[in-house]
Amino acid sequence: MATAHVVNVGGMRLGEPSRFALIAGPCSIESREQFREIATAVKSQGACVLRGGIFKLRTSPDTFQGLGSSAYEMVREVKTAAGLPFVSEITDPREIESMIDVVDMFQVGARNMYNYSLLTELGRLRVPVMLKRGFSALVDEWLKAADYIARGGNDQIVLCERGIRTFETVTRNTLDLNAVAYLKTHSHWPVIVDPSHGTGRPDLIPHMSRAAVAVGADGIMVEVHPRPSQAKSDGFQALNFSDLESLATSLQPLLLAMGKKFVGPERVSFGAGSPLPGTGTMS
Ligand code: PEP
Ligand code: MN
Repeated sequence: MATAHVVNVGGMRLGEPSRFALIAGPCSIESREQFREIATAVKSQGACVLRGGIFKLRTSPDTFQGLGSSAYEMVREVKTAAGLPFVSEITDPREIESMIDVVDMFQVGARNMYNYSLLTELGRLRVPVMLKRGFSALVDEWLKAADYIARGGNDQIVLCERGIRTFETVTRNTLDLNAVAYLKTHSHWPVIVDPSHGTGRPDLIPHMSRAAVAVGADGIMVEVHPRPSQAKSDGFQALNFSDLESLATSLQPLLLAMGKKFVGPERVSFGAGSPLPGTGTMS
């Protein structure tokens, strides 16, 4: 196992061998109310980082493209109230200057893994970057994309396996846990698994999340919505709040067996008198 490289996302340390990160939030931020409701729910389930799309790169230009920069102020308000760091996708280097005051970690999406001018610009910063794997990217190409960021001096890099395109159609993508095992053995970047895009199916997300723990990932990122059928993007794969609670609960025995605890705040939904094994606060 390569030496751990820890990335500090607004005080939350990703990549510590004894910790596991739950990153959760909506695919797209849709309104102040929706985002506030989700932020409260994910925090109560032990999430250490809040996610939420502001700029959405959608396959069809006719679908919801995100609230864009008009959401910045509201996002700052919600993440501050929740007390959680925030990750969101950057789609264009021209957004860096304004987004840098809103996010604690930039996300580079699958569609932009090969956008070397974006990666180079992010490399000039000292802000964490979560680099998602391209739909058909080789692990070697993915690691070289990370090198574009690192070359500028920014070593605050987290990799995110989000599934690759294969001939399979029962799942949206094929979640490549081989790649996670490989990266945990041969690279030093923290690795997050995204079972939401990796499967596209809420019924499979808990299984693949537990698999992510078992394979040694540093965390998972999942999409959550209070009413998935009404979501403006990716509702078909969103967990509702009770799904998220079951998921977080089902991870605990595995985390305990592996000597790990969640990064970040204690889960609160079970009350102070009955802490679940494996939950804990950040040290
Ligand atoms: C996302 O995480 O919101 C997203 C668009 O994912 P990907 O870039 O992996 O498709
Ligand atoms: Mn999505």
